[in-house]
Amino acid sequence: MMNKPLLSYLTAAAVLAGCAGSYRTATNATATTAASKAAGPILPGVGLDVADLDTTVSPCDDFFHYSGGNWLRNNPIPAYASSWGPRNLLGDRTQALLKQILEDAANTRASKGSNLQKVGDYYASGMDSVGLDRAGLKYLQPELRRIDAIISRDALRRELAHQQTLGTGAYFRAGVSPDRKNSSVYAVNLNQGGLSMPDRDYYLKDDVRSTTVRNAYVEYMTTVFELLGNAPATAQQRAANVLALETRLARASKSRVELRDPYANYNKMPLAEFDRAYPAVGLGDMLKQNGLGAVQEVIVGQPAFFQELNTVLQSTPLLEQKTYLTWQLVSSITSALPQAYSDAAFRFQQVQSGTKQQPTRWKRMLAATDGTLGEAFGQLYVDKAFSPEAKQKALDMLANIKESMAEHIRSNTWMSSATKTEALKKLNALRVKIGYPDKWKDYSTLNISRESYLQNVLAARQWNYARNVEKYGQPIDRTEWGMTPPTINAYYSPAMNEIVFPAGYLQPPFFDPKADDAVNYGAIGGVMGHEMTHAFDDQGRQYDSEGNLRDWWTKADGEEFTKRAAVVGTQYSAFSPLDSVYVNGKLTMGENLADFSGLTIVYDALQKQLQQKYGSKPRPRYDGFTPEQRFFLSWAQLRRTNIRPEALRQQILTDPHSPGQYRTIGPLMNMPQFYEAFGCQPGQKMVRNTEDRAKIW
Ligand SMILES: [Zn+2]
Repeated sequence: MMNKPLLSYLTAAAVLAGCAGSYRTATNATATTAASKAAGPILPGVGLDVADLDTTVSPCDDFFHYSGGNWLRNNPIPAYASSWGPRNLLGDRTQALLKQILEDAANTRASKGSNLQKVGDYYASGMDSVGLDRAGLKYLQPELRRIDAIISRDALRRELAHQQTLGTGAYFRAGVSPDRKNSSVYAVNLNQGGLSMPDRDYYLKDDVRSTTVRNAYVEYMTTVFELLGNAPATAQQRAANVLALETRLARASKSRVELRDPYANYNKMPLAEFDRAYPAVGLGDMLKQNGLGAVQEVIVGQPAFFQELNTVLQSTPLLEQKTYLTWQLVSSITSALPQAYSDAAFRFQQVQSGTKQQPTRWKRMLAATDGTLGEAFGQLYVDKAFSPEAKQKALDMLANIKESMAEHIRSNTWMSSATKTEALKKLNALRVKIGYPDKWKDYSTLNISRESYLQNVLAARQWNYARNVEKYGQPIDRTEWGMTPPTINAYYSPAMNEIVFPAGYLQPPFFDPKADDAVNYGAIGGVMGHEMTHAFDDQGRQYDSEGNLRDWWTKADGEEFTKRAAVVGTQYSAFSPLDSVYVNGKLTMGENLADFSGLTIVYDALQKQLQQKYGSKPRPRYDGFTPEQRFFLSWAQLRRTNIRPEALRQQILTDPHSPGQYRTIGPLMNMPQFYEAFGCQPGQKMVRNTEDRAKIW
């Protein structure tokens, strides 16, 4: 029997009553009995604001607007942002706290060499915009002169090696990271790069949107070359040279979808072979110059790209390459130069994202300090914002969700027992990191002062590069974090087989110890399930329990997975947020699978939690909603987003995450649990026919 949504003092009741019915579908293994879902007492709730709902919309037709329509109307995008959602609201709260920490640090006479001194001086030097204007190019001159002084291809290669240590992004990306097929050792990984626009399409396509962004890019470059002292005609010529060079690289680059195939992007070869095939890169000498002389083999992501890069390096006139290097250097540090450079960068950014106003300097410098000294800064943050109780509660939730995932693997109807055994082994080996690192990064060898922000930025980049190089030949460092503690985000790492949740995300409204379980499971629980099931999405499933790229699936099971995932891909490719703009179901596959799989397993983890707490007793209905309804509302609350059309187009092209609207409804449209919670009927827009539904776990 379908439980009729409770008529309450809420306006929500009017609409909920309209979709009550007796529709019920086959339930999963841990579904609770009808008795335990009998109407419980109505209590005031924490964690959801019912005034956000738009009850003129049916939850079964459009859950995105039902769950957040009033919120979307009442929360327009501020001028300084390109999109706006609960994450941004939390972001603003976090930033206020972080700003206080930075100002305190800047005003403290901390002992030279301490983390506090470095954080304070980095921020203060970045905030000194008058000083930056006055310094002009003074602190950049030594680097500009190095590029100017290049008079031969050999000198060019030596400078390329130096540019690598400055992290400017010129030509290609190189770094020391785990060998994906042997995740217990580090390897030198080389990948395509060298572009300044966010996607190769902007170089290659001639539609209105691509041309608009491309023209704005040329204008940006021209302005910067003029600021550097070139006459207008020369500046224009230089901008054209850079665009031509980058366009060649773009043409040789793989698409984002092609980059999602880990086997196709793994080509291990002896260094000598690389040097023979792509001599103009001068990789062997570069590695020697940069402290990696011991390297014998490298992993090349995209050989065809390096083939073209080799030709570009050989055939492009030296002057044009020097122009390109200058551009890559300067555009990577505009915020450390006089204001006119940041303004030019922002005008280009504006065309891409639609943002009306440049974020204030303190916000940009806060982000820069987080990016550079994240763990020194982060220690000061967690002292104020994260408690051991919160950590314990998060660990308890994760344990429940992991158990639910194990049950879903065991009771899976389409997987062989051989594949299940490997899947369970991988799940058991999954490591969890919560809040902040057990072992903090040691910044003692990094020198930061108040003299020059630009010097600080370059020193930090070289320090980071040296730190990365030092890893080579060492055992894998499993204590490292890929995000800083205040970050409002989380990740799964296939090579480490670990899920990581920074303290910044474990805050209301995503995680609220005062809220009911349904709300926490729908919000941060949904995130936990999402990250955990990344281990089993279309990419994650290709790595085994030790983080090695190795096929542990039987052929039939692998094919069955791919078939089931393809259903999800087709569903999302049909979503169209703007006229003639469609979600790319292939690019967003991993994220969509993680949303759907994660929510499925977390739903059952919540059922278990409720069963433990209430047994067969009626469950309280906070704000008049059943726990199941609150679970889905909480999931939706996290993803409500207002976004500018420019930013939306950019997201569709570059972001592996689907827009918030489809992250909200996409998984629910496949979930009978959702139909049941809101009494949805066949024929309503959120309800897919049985044969059209995806089912993986
Ligand atoms: Zn994800």
